[in-house]
Amino acid sequence: MVSRTTDDYADMATAGCVALCEPAFWAGFDRSSADGFRDYFRQLTEYEPKRAANYGIKHFTWLCINPKESEDVALATDVLEVIPEFMDCPNVLGIGEIGLNKNSRNEVKVLEMHVNLAASHDQLILVHTPHLEDKHKGTRLILDVIKNDSRIKPERVMIDHVEEHTIGMVLDAGHWGGMTLYPESKCSPARAIDMIERFGSDRLWWDAACDWGPSVPLAVPRTAVEMRRRGHEEALIEKVIFENPKAFLSQSERFLL
Ligand SMILES: [Zn+2]
Repeated sequence: MVSRTTDDYADMATAGCVALCEPAFWAGFDRSSADGFRDYFRQLTEYEPKRAANYGIKHFTWLCINPKESEDVALATDVLEVIPEFMDCPNVLGIGEIGLNKNSRNEVKVLEMHVNLAASHDQLILVHTPHLEDKHKGTRLILDVIKNDSRIKPERVMIDHVEEHTIGMVLDAGHWGGMTLYPESKCSPARAIDMIERFGSDRLWWDAACDWGPSVPLAVPRTAVEMRRRGHEEALIEKVIFENPKAFLSQSERFLL
């Protein structure tokens, strides 16, 4: 929520949002040192939960160096040494969003380092799949990295930003899949509902991006309205927007509503 105003929190509370989880994100510029990340992790674990609490929303977070900044392996190595300092904070759910941005060799190396960190500390994992480069290839590479670490239980991994051509392989691998709703680009509400109708509702959720570009924090409740308009049962809507996220996130003992 670092890119968002307090009005966004107020709107989310008004729409019935009771909790959110925030992936460690790109700052709008590449940070120059691990200390920059240490300060950012303090914001995610100290200040942001208080800001959300003012609106009755529980704030949870994930920690990592985002794939967008993962080209610099030396910096990533330093950041990964900082992360354990924050792992016991009460709102930390796990490692994320890790993954690939340009599908480069260095990004794969940093992804492997993150997966190892998550496995050795028994953390949940949230994964970003690429938007600009080949998403299918990137998702395949990510699934292979995760599969290669036998300590990782597939059901403890959420693969985010799935689309029609990647959702099948994610579910087949035993992971959860997230559809990220955007107003203009990427996954629209109509496509997200189509995917639920086509692939079922198990191990799937929708999420809203709080991005630097056009993105809508209320995308999930708005998509629920569209699902209702299509005539879907209330129980199915509740499963996708509340029960499924709760089931996945409750694998962390820190996720208490
Ligand atoms: Zn992402």
